[in-house]
Amino acid sequence: MENLVKLAREGRLEQGLGLTFGTHRPNPVERVAYDIEELVRDYRVGRRADGSPYRFLIKTYGCQMNEHDTEVMAGLLLAMGYEQSDSDEFADFILFNTCAVRENAEAKVFGEIGRLRPLKAKNPELLLGLCGCMAQEQGVQKMVLEKFPWVDVVFGTHNIHRLPAILTAAKQSQETVMEVWEKAAETVEDIPKVRKDSVRAWVNIQYGCNKFCTYCIVPYTRGRERSREPEDVIKEVRELVAAGYKEITLLGQNVNDYGVDLGTITFAQLLRAVNDIEGIDRIRFTTSNPWNFTDDLIAAIAECEHVVEHIHLPVQSGNNEILRRMNRTHTREYYLQLVNKIRKAIPNVSLTTDIIVGFPGETEAAFQDTLSLVREVQFDNAFTFIYSPRENTPAAKFADEVTLEEKKDRLRRLNDVQYQISLARNQALKGRVVEVLVEGESKTNREVLTGRTRTNHLVLFPGDISLKGQHVDVEITHPQTFLLKGQCVYREEVVS
Ligand code: SAM
Ligand code: SF4
Repeated sequence: MENLVKLAREGRLEQGLGLTFGTHRPNPVERVAYDIEELVRDYRVGRRADGSPYRFLIKTYGCQMNEHDTEVMAGLLLAMGYEQSDSDEFADFILFNTCAVRENAEAKVFGEIGRLRPLKAKNPELLLGLCGCMAQEQGVQKMVLEKFPWVDVVFGTHNIHRLPAILTAAKQSQETVMEVWEKAAETVEDIPKVRKDSVRAWVNIQYGCNKFCTYCIVPYTRGRERSREPEDVIKEVRELVAAGYKEITLLGQNVNDYGVDLGTITFAQLLRAVNDIEGIDRIRFTTSNPWNFTDDLIAAIAECEHVVEHIHLPVQSGNNEILRRMNRTHTREYYLQLVNKIRKAIPNVSLTTDIIVGFPGETEAAFQDTLSLVREVQFDNAFTFIYSPRENTPAAKFADEVTLEEKKDRLRRLNDVQYQISLARNQALKGRVVEVLVEGESKTNREVLTGRTRTNHLVLFPGDISLKGQHVDVEITHPQTFLLKGQCVYREEVVS
């Protein structure tokens, strides 16, 4: 395996797409069903002294995976008898669902926890909780116990389903109740969920990550890759379609590794199976990894009519030495070949990416390789970050000689290049008619509707809210860098 990886890194391997990098372990995780009746029987929350319901508020940080975990936890709390609150002041349980990917997100959470402390004097029943990726870090657990003892509940990413039991224990305890599991023992099915949106829904297909990129904390906070059984995924999607959802996003850290641990199905096969569900409208997926993005998968995306033409394909850097030090398992050449293959098979595809600047050892020349890759690929959009050292990850120990000022300057220069590309690509759509799935009203103007093309471009146009959940044809009149403005039209020929 070592030799194959070396060949691929050096661009000498005729892309063995279909090869699987050897970090996978057999899946020891057990599938269990959640007992909702037990939840309602054992953990009902009752009423406040004045007869009003207890209320909760979940503050979510980070990725779509966290957003979706919040939907699961909201479902559990509603089943316990809590109601949702949208203000800190009226909530009896405030839960921080946190992200640990970059340091500034962590600092924000601790700032907020400090800010909310005085609310406990006003409402003695108020409980504060911390969960998500930060809770998995031992440093954070220690910090809570030593510096933020007014946090009542801490639990991790592997025992979300235990929230009712943990919260009930915290109500009866004077001290912080902390229950963080080191790894996932179970894949828990049938947990109630409260979906935030009525048009779009997320469906987990896989948990965790085995890739161990040297900068990234996710394999430590989310554990090893575990795929859900295909029957469970299909059942959930069927139910969502029956409930009227129009767009399903299949979620995982490396969706194209879906099924590697199961050994019975590939991601390409799962996409085809979801595509065949009667009544399904749009299917999205995120995040893909360039490694193991097989020809079979490209064919499935091209051939499945409901699978949209958008691939988020994080590259991280355009320089081979930096990619090697990041343990990304792809090279610049491999990535560019993959992009060519994808563009050939799916001509109108939209590609987006993630890029880190200022990784330890990144020279100006290495950074220029990233700029040239960005110019070559012509991404529709890129999420760009300054490298943030994360405790206990290998890269945190790498010597880092680039100053913060230089890193900020690289980020600015990278964004300048990408913004120009995004604008130019959007301007090419001027006068074209695109198919938009209407998501709802604009937050700032109720007469304007927002929606997305299959290629994930955000479109704003005047219209009536009765169009929510429908497909409309919109002529693009004012393309901008991050969105497209237009007018609803009725024409036969549409693009994207
Ligand atoms: N699994 C996805 C993948 O490999 O592409 C991405 C998951 S990660 C939560 C989202 C993005 O955060 C990464 O693609 C990377 O660009 C960025 N990221 C992760 N760790 C980082 C770090 N230590 N500093 C800066 N950015 C980081
Ligand atoms: Fe992090 Fe790499 Fe896994 Fe993505 S693939 S979650 S960047 S370790």
